[in-house]
Amino acid sequence: MAWLLVSILFLGLAFAAWFYYACTVPTSRFFRPVLVRGPAQGRKIALTFDDGPASPFSEKILDILRDRKVPAAFFVCGKNVERYPHIVKRIAQEGHTLGNHTFSHPLLYFRSSRFIGDEIDRTQAAIEEASGVRPTVFRPPYGGRWLGLMGVLRARGLRLIMWSATGYDWKLQTDGVVSAALRELRPGAVVLLHDGHNVGPPEAIDRSNTVAALPAIINQARAAGYEFVSLSEFLAA
Ligand SMILES: [Zn+2]
Repeated sequence: MAWLLVSILFLGLAFAAWFYYACTVPTSRFFRPVLVRGPAQGRKIALTFDDGPASPFSEKILDILRDRKVPAAFFVCGKNVERYPHIVKRIAQEGHTLGNHTFSHPLLYFRSSRFIGDEIDRTQAAIEEASGVRPTVFRPPYGGRWLGLMGVLRARGLRLIMWSATGYDWKLQTDGVVSAALRELRPGAVVLLHDGHNVGPPEAIDRSNTVAALPAIINQARAAGYEFVSLSEFLAA
């Protein structure tokens, strides 16, 4: 009886360790192929924005990127794409990358391949209808990966994109977002920020901290010798 309990305990701990590392740690490479960061040569970094589009924050971020000639990737949720198709169109027209971030922003843990596939397909269709672009990159909500995800992505020609640096803009104020993003910068960094927040009602979304932090992040990263490049440059390398 004791050995049975020990075995169950051991298996439980092993599962918990695997689950934590493989499914939750953003930089884990258990599920692959995955882009966590780009090549270390050349002090290049890529900006990414998740959970949008959300008005007026996405437009303000697009204005800042346009004025400073910075390319970025936007991992959008299908539900928000249906709310703001004109912003999705603008993202494409201004040369940024559009990525798939599921339709309703669910955690993918313990979900079936069918559920994951439906979330992704609805979003691909919404993005394509709004912009004419069919994304080739995907980022899971909350960074959560699950069994079956890679098969779903492979079947649709989508690449898994994670991140290596973030401004923690879901919890920090403007100054904190700037210093956190800069502290985690390394050559090849893929930086996570947010122009939206999940798929709740628009009036519940406030990304003014991210908007306020972005010019300082761009200016100070450039002063430190970093060059902003598009995700596609990292994927090609
Ligand atoms: Zn998200």
